Amino acid sequence: MLEVAAIDADYGGVPILRGVSLAVAPGEVVCVMGRNGAGKSTLLKAILGLARVTAGKVTLGGTELTGLPPHRVPGHGIGYVPQGRRLFAELTVAENLEIGLMTRRKGAATREKVLGLFPRLRERLGQVSGTLSGGEQQMLAIARALCLEPSALLLDEPTEGLQPSMIALIRETVLRLKAEGVAVVLVEQRIEAVLSVADRVVFLVNGEVAETLAAEGLDPRAEVFQRYVGV
Ligand code: ADP
Ligand code: MG
Repeated sequence: MLEVAAIDADYGGVPILRGVSLAVAPGEVVCVMGRNGAGKSTLLKAILGLARVTAGKVTLGGTELTGLPPHRVPGHGIGYVPQGRRLFAELTVAENLEIGLMTRRKGAATREKVLGLFPRLRERLGQVSGTLSGGEQQMLAIARALCLEPSALLLDEPTEGLQPSMIALIRETVLRLKAEGVAVVLVEQRIEAVLSVADRVVFLVNGEVAETLAAEGLDPRAEVFQRYVGV
């Protein structure tokens, strides 16, 4: 269980998040929605220790993560796919995966499992990742995070700018991880994409949780989307 309990977070003293809570059990997908600047990316960064948490706490499986140096957090089993995917562009596909594997000392079995999910990456192991297509880069960013065999996975707008076939592949991957018992936090702006995978939707407004709703039965035309996402 990933638990964020009433956290405040800031960047260099500028407060961004106030009293944010969410809980994601193994096999659950919680989607975070909100307008630009609402604090969605900051919420993921706060979980990872990349934004400073000044109140409240973050725990994974009962272990407190708050206050750990950022480089120590992934080793506890949190995979992170940042917005805009941030690979090591000069490194090859294989080298990027190796970095993921080293984080928690995973080996060939993990690598094989991850490549099984993304066969296209296997064909491109020697390719410099900066030369991959946008969709392939996103696949690699997700694959690298999965090389940790994470118990929780944080995805920041993974479908941004991708074509429909790639969006469908990411959706299938999220559903597969859900079935395997990973706790997934997904920042996503597309309502259909959210409703097709989410157990709950957390709406952020100005760094605060405005509302948390069960996804089941939520209508894509529901007024909450207008109100909090502005679509
Ligand atoms: P979202 O992902 O919902 O669009 P962000 O979490 O990126 O929003 O940003 C929330 C607020 O934090 C915005 O006002 C943004 O300008 C500010 N912010 C984001 N990153 C930083 C940073 N590294 N330093 C200072 N302020 C930041
Ligand atoms: Mg963002």
